[in-house]
Amino acid sequence: MTGIGILGANGRMGRVLIDAAHLDANVTLVAASVREGSNWIGMDAGELAGIGKQNVEITSSLEHNAAEIDVVIDFTLPDVLEQNLAWCVKNNKAIVIGTTGLNDKQKEMLRLASTKIPIVFAANYSVGVNLMLNLVRQAAKTMGDSADIEILEAHHRFKKDAPSGTAMAIGEAIADEIGRDLNQCAVYGREGDTGERKHETIGFATVRAGDVVGEHTALFADIGERLEITHKASSRLTFAKGAITAAKWLIGKPSGLYSMQDVLGFN
Ligand code: NAD
Repeated sequence: MTGIGILGANGRMGRVLIDAAHLDANVTLVAASVREGSNWIGMDAGELAGIGKQNVEITSSLEHNAAEIDVVIDFTLPDVLEQNLAWCVKNNKAIVIGTTGLNDKQKEMLRLASTKIPIVFAANYSVGVNLMLNLVRQAAKTMGDSADIEILEAHHRFKKDAPSGTAMAIGEAIADEIGRDLNQCAVYGREGDTGERKHETIGFATVRAGDVVGEHTALFADIGERLEITHKASSRLTFAKGAITAAKWLIGKPSGLYSMQDVLGFN
C-alpha cells in the first residue's frame, strides 16, 4: 500500500486527487496540507473533497505524518515549489509534480532535487495527452518541413499561466523532432500588422473561458491539406488518476527526474 501526502489539498486538483486516492485500492491518503492560515485546517480531507469522512486531518504542512508518506503529490503554484522540494529532500520522499508555469530557475531546482530524490514531473498526467506527444512527433517528422505549425489551447477562466504547460510540451516535442529551438521560433499570439507568416515559426494561441478543463490542438497546415491532432479533457479526474499511477510507479525508483512518458512505458 502506497502512502500518499497531498499538497494544496483545497485546490481544484487537490480535491480531485483526494478522490482519486480514495478510488485506488492500492494507495492510502495519509496526509493532506493547505496553506498556513487556511480555514480548512483541522477539517477532514474527505469532507473537503465531498466524498465523506476519510479520517485524514487537513494540516498546514505534511510534517505531522511524515513517517507514513511514501510519495508526495504537488499540484500547487510555482512559488511554493522550492519549499516543497526542500521538504521532500530533507525527509527523503519521492514526489510527483503537476504544477505548471515553472521558470528556468524553478526547472533547475527540480533537476538539482532529482539528484537526491526520485521525481516525476509532467505538464499533463493524462494518458491521451502523453500519447499525443508521440503522435505530434510523428506528424512533425513527416509534415514539419513543409507545413505551418500552430498550437491551440483552451482552459477555464481561473488558469493563471499561459500558454499551458501542455501546449509548451507539445511545442517542445515538435521543435525537438524537426531540429528547431522553441525559444527562437515560438510566436505567442499575433496582433496588428504582423506581416506574412514566417515559415519556421511555431505559433501558440490561447483561449481562457468558463469551465473548460483543457483542450489542445496541434495543427499542421500545408497548401491543400491540414492535419489536426486534438485532445480534450472532460474531467480533472484523468489528471489525478495519472498522478496516482505515477506515484505508485515511483516506489523503489532511484533518484532521478522522470516523465509521464517513462511512467507509461513510452520511452
Ligand atoms: P488551484 O489554484 O485551484 O490550486 C492551487 C493550490 O495551491 C491551492 O490549494 C492553494 O492553496 C495551494 N497553494 C498556493 N500557494 C500555496 C502556499 N504558499 N502554500 C501552500 N499551498 C499553496 O489550481 P489548480 O487548478 O488545482 O492547479 C494547480 C496547478 O496544477 C497549476 O499549476 C495547474 O496548471 C496545474 N495542473 C497540472 C495538471 C497536470 O496534469 N500536470 C493538470 C491540471 C492542473
